[in-house]
Amino acid sequence: MSKTSKAQNLDVPAVNPQVIDAARDYVFEPKPVSQFPCRVCGTSGATESSDGLCWVCRRLKISAWRDSDAQDASSE
Ligand SMILES: [Zn+2]
Repeated sequence: MSKTSKAQNLDVPAVNPQVIDAARDYVFEPKPVSQFPCRVCGTSGATESSDGLCWVCRRLKISAWRDSDAQDASSE
């Protein structure tokens, strides 16, 4: 039992590079989500789940919320 498995391990690498590539493609491959131009800057990549904003405008929007919150807290 151990003899045969040892012989097979010589031919099969511990981690198959093709498996890593396949996993990498699966992680970074954009999922089939309908994308359209950002409604603010026109950059493609906006999705329904991002309120029609690209990731850049989405971050700007979030940071704007933080700024407005800070101003409200410090306004007199
Ligand atoms: Zn944008």
